[in-house]
Amino acid sequence: MKNFDVNELKEIFFNYFQKCGYVKIEGSSLVPTTDNSVLFTPAGMHPLIPYLTGQKKHPKGNKLANIQNVVRTGAINKVGEDSFLTFFELFGDWIIGQYNKQEVLSDVWKFLTNILEIPEEQLYITYFEGSDIHDKDISTINSWMNIGVKENHLCPTVKNWKGPYSSEKICGPNTRIFYDTGKEKCSSNCNVTCNCGKYVELWDVVFFDYTYKNGKLEKSISPSVDMGAGVERLAALIQGVNTIYETDMMNILVNMVESQVEEKEKLLDSNNIKKCRIIADHLRCSCLIIGDEISTIPSNKGRGYVLRKIIRRAINSTDQLGIKYDSYEFLINKIIDMYKKDNPFLELKREYILNVINTEYNLYKNTLKKNLIKIEKELKNRNNISNEEINNLFNRYGVPVDIITEMVIKNKILMRR
Ligand SMILES: [Zn+2]
Repeated sequence: MKNFDVNELKEIFFNYFQKCGYVKIEGSSLVPTTDNSVLFTPAGMHPLIPYLTGQKKHPKGNKLANIQNVVRTGAINKVGEDSFLTFFELFGDWIIGQYNKQEVLSDVWKFLTNILEIPEEQLYITYFEGSDIHDKDISTINSWMNIGVKENHLCPTVKNWKGPYSSEKICGPNTRIFYDTGKEKCSSNCNVTCNCGKYVELWDVVFFDYTYKNGKLEKSISPSVDMGAGVERLAALIQGVNTIYETDMMNILVNMVESQVEEKEKLLDSNNIKKCRIIADHLRCSCLIIGDEISTIPSNKGRGYVLRKIIRRAINSTDQLGIKYDSYEFLINKIIDMYKKDNPFLELKREYILNVINTEYNLYKNTLKKNLIKIEKELKNRNNISNEEINNLFNRYGVPVDIITEMVIKNKILMRR
């Protein structure tokens, strides 16, 4: 396998797919401009939906490639675990209109096996096995077999159907490429769709061949292909590291955070390592949200609330690790330096980003101070408290559960189950 750093991998991706006829386009803002149903752009295809459905003609043609910034906070509590981030970049390729399935899949296959030199025998592919919606996806099976993929590496699943999406209700079968890490099977039922960590999804190709109208499928007048991969996940694989926090880019940030922890024995505890990763991830996400072409600032609703929550979670972890807030300036500047090449607004908004995070820090600290007094009053003269009541205090005052628990113990209050 070739070992490229994240920036080299991005360059190789564009060089290769441009040779295959795809035109490089810029990623879109993290703030969706045409769809109010989501707060942040959740996927690369999202800003391109009007083109994929044939409603609009893309000025750069019908074969496109880009890297899209996305923010997803649905699993924010899992950030710090091996494969969860709030901000990440996605490689994406699209074909709008008629396409040749075998050619599409062959281009992806060659990228993974020839350019990145991922061993073929470790790649497994899923395809749509058929359901009451649609028959088994025979043309995908045939295309993969013509490319040279062995039959025992092709795995049918009912999950391989995407959509319907958007007002046009586009949908169709997809095929996914997985990497077998070589780990032991978790059970005799373990297969490519198992989420035990043995198999890692690398690439997803969706064939939007249909629209779903009046309860039934209709052949689309403008079929399209949407495919892509997570930049960090692919980088982790080719760099031979176990988690996305160990890729060259994230590793720099996590190491910087760890170096700010004065009591080094704290770093022997996996919970504290998780907190270091949370700080790295959340600050990176905050910088990219504030430094986007359409800036968001912390507030109590919508996008602003999500940003506020992310910054405050980073501050909580910082406090718990005993890291001084002074180090934020250094970290934020490093994040801007690392990502400004692909995100030119970061450099233009450098001072602004520092100011927004600093203002939120001061506001949060003041609020915490006031709310700690209020909680202290509520705990006074209490004999016992339940977990639910502690959570209610957290929801009401925003003071982290760990801090409330410490106060409970200090006041010698019994914790009920
Ligand atoms: Zn398994």
